[in-house]
Amino acid sequence: MVTPAGITVDAQQMTTVPGVYACGDVTTGNQIAFAVAGGAMAAMQAANAIFYDTLPAGARSPDSA
Ligand SMILES: Cc1cc2nc3c(=O)[nH]c(=O)nc-3n(C[C@H](O)[C@H](O)[C@H](O)COP(=O)(O)OP(=O)(O)OC[C@H]3O[C@@H](n4cnc5c(N)ncnc54)[C@H](O)[C@@H]3O)c2cc1C
Repeated sequence: MVTPAGITVDAQQMTTVPGVYACGDVTTGNQIAFAVAGGAMAAMQAANAIFYDTLPAGARSPDSA
């Protein structure tokens, strides 16, 4: 969801689309530190989802079930 403040993300930087992450100025921050922190969180969560299959069931590929 894109609001006037930017793309909506949860505490793990995941957008309202499961498995899709966003960070930086397109979310809510306007400082470098927040962009870097959000990028680190998003990267870790995406890696966890890929390697440890933590994505919600609806976001997994049929092959990974
Ligand atoms: C004048 C100014 C001064 C600032 N001073 C400070 C400061 O002192 N301290 C501080 O913490 N923050 C400051 N900021 C804010 C800081 O620059 C941003 O918060 C930070 O750069 C956000 O990083 P980002 O990766 O989200 O976006 P960006 O750094 O804007 O990176 C986005 C990148 O995406 C690229 N891009 C855009 N559209 C596309 C497309 N369609 N396809 C491919 N690439 C695309 C752009 O070219 C850009 O390289 C300042 C900002 C400005 C404008």
